[in-house]
Parts: sequence; C-alpha cells; structure tokens
Amino acid sequence: MLEDSYRHKGLRKKLIEELAEKGITDKAVLEAMNKIPRHAFLDPAFTEQAYQDIAFRIGAGQTISQPYTVAFQTQELRVKKGDRILEIGTGSGYQASVLLAMGAKLVSIERQRELFLKAKIIIDELGYNAKLIYGDGFKGNEMYAPYDKVIVTCGAPFVPEKLVEQLKPGGRMIIPVGEGDVQQMILITKDAEGNVKEELKGDFRFVPMLKDKAK
Ligand code: SAH
Repeated sequence: MLEDSYRHKGLRKKLIEELAEKGITDKAVLEAMNKIPRHAFLDPAFTEQAYQDIAFRIGAGQTISQPYTVAFQTQELRVKKGDRILEIGTGSGYQASVLLAMGAKLVSIERQRELFLKAKIIIDELGYNAKLIYGDGFKGNEMYAPYDKVIVTCGAPFVPEKLVEQLKPGGRMIIPVGEGDVQQMILITKDAEGNVKEELKGDFRFVPMLKDKAK
C-alpha cells in the first residue's frame, strides 16, 4: 500500500505554495499536484527530494520532470474534465497521474519497458485507469486519436508531424523542442479550420526524445 503521511502531505503543501509563488495560477493544476503523492514515484530513500522543485533520476537513465515544469506544461494545456489527452514519455507516471487527477482520459506512451511496467503498477495503485503503451511516441497513437490535448515530456529534435495530425481542431499541444541541453517550450494550437499556430514559451531542460522502443 502507498503510504501518504502527514509529513508527506505537509511537504507537498509547501511545494504547491512554491509553485504558486513561481507563477502557476491554475487552481485545478495546483489541486491535482497537491493530491498526487510525488514521493511514491521515487525510491523510498528520496522522500525529501520528492518535494523539492527539482528533476530526479527514476531509472533507465531517465528523470521525473521538475514539479514546476509539470505544472507549467499542464497549465498550458488548459485541461478540462473528460479531455482525451496523449502523453509522450510516461517515465515515472507522475505527470500522467496529475492529468488523471484532473479527469483526463489519458493515453501515454513510453519507450523504456522497465519504466512502462513500473508506471503501470503505481497508476493502478493510485486507483486510476489509463491506456499505457510501450512504444515509440514519434508515431503517436492512431487507435485513440484524435486528441483534445497532446503533451510531450521529452526533448524532441523537431515537432513530430503525426502528433500534430492527431490533434483535434480546437486542440492544444505542448512540446519542448531542441537537440542540445536546453529546449524551447512550444505551444501548438489548432483552430476549428485546422490551421496550426506555434508560440514560444521559454527555455526548459528535458531528457531527449529518442527513436524506436528501447530493448
Ligand atoms: N512524464 C515523465 C517524464 C519522464 S522523462 C514523468 O512524469 O516522470 C521522459 C521520458 O520520455 C523518459 O522516460 C523516456 O524514456 C521517454 N521517451 C523518450 N523518447 C521517447 C519516445 N520516442 N517515445 C516514448 N517515450 C520516449
């Protein structure tokens, strides 16, 4: 069973206050992040780190995104209950759980088998239902398309065409793009006629989006 003590809750509340101070204003985002026990996504030795505003290693050479980054990307999506959302890079499953707590119908793709399996267990344990897929996010997922929202949580070398195709008219997509150490966050919106617009949203750091499934 997942332990979520008063101490965990206290540390989490402080983190949420810090995110609000850093400019996160969407109450639904803050509420969802206050609900999800982030320490459960890290090794039990790292409870303290789970509630600091930092990225952290989760195995297979990957990281759980920094809380501010999770909050920022989620806020940019303007999540509504019942939205069908596609996430690329399930990783620990933390971002996925935040979206699920906001009432999203989630499809999430991960290319590292070890992480895909771990995330499945914890999302189940939290009592959520998501379509988790072990595969290559560059292709998106046709089966559940189109999506109201798309979120990419790894640094993409370019905007994958398939992901834009699978976005609904009126949809929003948030994706960090850039091949070096730093990525530019890009918000992509598609209007009712299917016209696509891009807006730059600042610099962030992500692990790279890589082609094909890892073995
Ligand atoms: N959203 C995650 C962040 C994990 S880091 C969380 O909340 O923990 C980004 C993840 O993207 C890594 O686990 C990495 O393996 C995965 N990834 C990289 N390239 C990918 C691709 N082409 N398709 C799917 N996942 C990918």
